[in-house]
Amino acid sequence: MQKIIIAIDGHSSCGKSTMAKDLAKEIGYKYIDSGAMYRAVTLYGLQKSCFINNKLDVEALEKELPNIDIYFEIDPVSGSSQTHLNGENVEQSIRRMEVASKVSFVSEVASVRKFLVAQQQAMGAKKGIVMDGRDICTVVFPEAALKIFLTARPEVRAQRRFDELKAKQQYISLAEVLDNLNQRDLIDSTRKESPLRCAPDAIVLDNSDMSIEQQKQWLLKKFKEKTIFNN
Ligand code: C5P
Repeated sequence: MQKIIIAIDGHSSCGKSTMAKDLAKEIGYKYIDSGAMYRAVTLYGLQKSCFINNKLDVEALEKELPNIDIYFEIDPVSGSSQTHLNGENVEQSIRRMEVASKVSFVSEVASVRKFLVAQQQAMGAKKGIVMDGRDICTVVFPEAALKIFLTARPEVRAQRRFDELKAKQQYISLAEVLDNLNQRDLIDSTRKESPLRCAPDAIVLDNSDMSIEQQKQWLLKKFKEKTIFNN
């Protein structure tokens, strides 16, 4: 069967990566978390002191881009995708609040987007990929055979992220998590460069009241419909 590209965009913390990962595993496709790549650049920027008084020094970060090498490796024990930055596993550190609170300032920089979009497109050259993010349906793979725009109510999203952080022993108040989500959504959807938009041909799903299993089944059905139709 001919492989396709599945692109999933949507708001922060609405379960895009869980859904994308589950589907990729089920159908034997590669999963790429494009948000992890923006987070890794942000982490590198923090390590290289590209933030001065919480403000991003764009020029300093741009100079560092050629020194940034991001790739994913599958953990042999858990089977999960692990983000690597210059040879180091940064999967845990890129999920910290320090990175989450700065990533939207990094992802609005045109040169950063150009740098990462080229790598994401190369990863999808052979198809057979599920990628999630903010501009995957609109910019990275506008020709993707299956496009999904995922959303959920902000309180539901905040609670999910709060539970996720708590499970990782990161104790941040629910109000702070909600505030971070709202702020990222605002910056991500109003920025000049590739703002978060629902592609006209994307299927919209509000998963506020759905279980992970229900979402998986829903997406699997969409995938089957597409591949039967395309093959
Ligand atoms: O998906 P995640 O929440 O980890 O993404 C972190 C941030 O990376 C987003 O808030 C957004 O600013 C940026 N991002 C982006 N384009 C993508 C994926 C993520 O701008 N394709």
